[in-house]
Amino acid sequence: MSDDTHLRRASWPPSLSRPVASPLHQSVVYASPDPDALDAHYRGQEPGYTYSREGHPNATVLAGLIDRLEGAPGGAITGSGMAAITAVLLGVPRSGDHVIGADQLYGRSLRLMTEDLPRLGIDTSLVDTTKVENLARAMRPETKLILVETLSNPTLRVADLQAIAALARDRGILLAVDNTFTTPRGFRPLASGADITLHSVTKLLAGHADAMLGYVAARDPEVQARLDTVIATFGLTPSPFDCWLAERGLYSFDLRYRRACETAARLADALAGTRGVKRVIYPGRPDHPDHATAMTVFAGQGGNMVSFLLDGGRAAANALTRAAPGLAFAPTLGDIATTLSHPPSSSHRAMSPEARQAIGITEGFFRVSVGVEEAEALIGELTGAIRAAVRT
Ligand SMILES: *Cc1c(COP(=O)(O)O)cnc(C)c1O
Repeated sequence: MSDDTHLRRASWPPSLSRPVASPLHQSVVYASPDPDALDAHYRGQEPGYTYSREGHPNATVLAGLIDRLEGAPGGAITGSGMAAITAVLLGVPRSGDHVIGADQLYGRSLRLMTEDLPRLGIDTSLVDTTKVENLARAMRPETKLILVETLSNPTLRVADLQAIAALARDRGILLAVDNTFTTPRGFRPLASGADITLHSVTKLLAGHADAMLGYVAARDPEVQARLDTVIATFGLTPSPFDCWLAERGLYSFDLRYRRACETAARLADALAGTRGVKRVIYPGRPDHPDHATAMTVFAGQGGNMVSFLLDGGRAAANALTRAAPGLAFAPTLGDIATTLSHPPSSSHRAMSPEARQAIGITEGFFRVSVGVEEAEALIGELTGAIRAAVRT
């Protein structure tokens, strides 16, 4: 048998032209010419990659694009939004430190705050961050970090992030903002005085419900270096394929977001005039409790998320999702298509009905993540389903 029937790793064909779309580098490991070159790479003197848990080109490209949107000096991509939050919570505080979080953080973030940080000797407090005084009261000499979200889920309350940033800076406490719900087009945490901005890229930025990723960027390069180390050490690294999908999704992010925000504002008004809807929660509407704050903090944008209270209990809620088969009933947000979620049976199921009631989440509570569908058709479908649901 001649040697050329024996398969070896192929060499990449040479080409004078280059691909227009970013190539997918689905490789775990990278070969270097010699030990000197590897040394130069590890010392940061030469660009390159070695082992993809430490970094790979598809993550670099995606991080660079989100850096531009966020105005960040050099953020990192992680394997999920929770991985980005984990990097911050493991990278910033030490045992003996104290961390303050918003009491309506994303469910898994709340779990990290209430179960996992205390287990590591890090004390935590949760406060209603729509009032800055609550934060000031919770601060202690050992407080090192504050974690807030731009919009609370699913009640869409707005914290006065500029005031929180000023207070945190005054006390020398790092402020981390989970910017998933508003995106860098709604709010730019680093430009508003926050120290760390982070995302579930899974949601609006990637935007197609097919890639799970996170992003985290610190203003201070030393803090970023700590986050980068935690990401590589704890294995919070993203997959190249997910980065590649998210890069493709991100190019249409502006178009998708603008359209979704416009439709969301119209949908919110239409829902407010629909029989069977008890209450509409949309920061862009003057009847929202934080409307004025939202208009200042988010530069006049209401976002793509609309929550509403349907008349009736679980039976009416079941009837609604069944009457709207074209709208995915799915516990996520930010997909190109509109999705409907029901917090009492998903994100907030671990809470007692009384605790849910206390923050206004009753069985009729729905959250809509508005997508890019034609507005009239979407509004007709949802209001029609509501009318049918409350009739049954
Ligand atoms: C979804 C979400 C997360 C978690 O992100 P994953 O990508 O699902 O890990 C964190 N924060 C907020 C606000 C989210 O909506």
